[in-house]
Amino acid sequence: MADVAKRLSTNIDGNFFVDATCINCDTCRQLAPKSFVENGEYSSVYRQPETESERYQAYQALLACPVGSIGALVPDKAVMRAATESFPMLIEDNVFYNGFNSEKSFGANSYFIRHPEGNWLVDAPRYMKKLVDAFERMGGIAYIFLTHEDDIGDAPRYAKHFRAKRVIHRADADAQPDAEWIIDGLDTVEASPDFRIIPVPGHTDGSMALLYRSRYLFTGDHMAWDREIKGLRLATVYVWKESALRRSAEKLLVYPFEWILPGHGDRMHLPSTKHFWRSRRRLPSTVTSPVCFMTSFSDSITWSTSSTCGCSYTIPSGTSCASTLWRCRTRAVMCWAARNFPWQNPQAGGSGNISSPCWSRMWRRKPAFPA
Ligand code: SF4
Repeated sequence: MADVAKRLSTNIDGNFFVDATCINCDTCRQLAPKSFVENGEYSSVYRQPETESERYQAYQALLACPVGSIGALVPDKAVMRAATESFPMLIEDNVFYNGFNSEKSFGANSYFIRHPEGNWLVDAPRYMKKLVDAFERMGGIAYIFLTHEDDIGDAPRYAKHFRAKRVIHRADADAQPDAEWIIDGLDTVEASPDFRIIPVPGHTDGSMALLYRSRYLFTGDHMAWDREIKGLRLATVYVWKESALRRSAEKLLVYPFEWILPGHGDRMHLPSTKHFWRSRRRLPSTVTSPVCFMTSFSDSITWSTSSTCGCSYTIPSGTSCASTLWRCRTRAVMCWAARNFPWQNPQAGGSGNISSPCWSRMWRRKPAFPA
């Protein structure tokens, strides 16, 4: 429940507000773009909803927010009820966005595919009776496809309730060691005539995409629609290995698709071939244009920063910057260089100056540095 005492000053006056517990997951901006905007490290309300449909969308955002950061001073119970009933939300055909994003997956989107040979859940939302009932009405869940280790959400609880098979890549299987179906290697798996499982290492070494009927591409955190550049973009933060990410993108874009349905980022329909190819051409520049905020850093004696999450680090002189910005899970900004120098990582035997609760979380499952 949002706390009015923590209301961010960046909100415009009025009924809806975002409080300081926001984790900037983007969910509200996807669901109600006419009301919510990114503002620094948080979302905020930049325009109060005016029409009925805008109010409805604002309530959908309120419900989907993984950490309950959105509040309404005077709740409208009828609209709230209608918004609750809107999840799972039909995207097209038999594909749904589930809403109720989970904090356990940093607010990642999850999806449901209704299929005569068994329904698929793609990543997992919060475990809620409302969703359980809805999935039951639609025939239950046969498979839970886990795009990668970060977006598990409440998959184990759904798997247990529905006796569903969890599908995960071996390289990310530490996150679900008891998963029922482990995918090995880099080859595409034809799970059935309608479902292709495509390993796309890069964001994590076990990332996978799911292509349904050569039309719906579920990409996890590998690739998403970027509303700023109006094109597809690859993961730019938390990248396990950039060279693998690029190879995976090339491999993935060989397949036809019309919808891109990511964990983080906008859902987008790219109906025309022209649009699709234009998006495709944008990919390499997105990947090869790293953002570096510390290009002047290599000559400095020390450089340090800290963040609201408690992460801090210091980089000694003489270190060259590898030019790729990287952000820790709770918003500390770090440089790719810091990731790649063993002196910075206590787990790699270094004695650097990293002090980061997020850092240890990031590397818990990845003891070795990428080359
Ligand atoms: S959905 Fe919630 S946590 Fe995510 S950006 Fe919006 S207010 Fe922040």
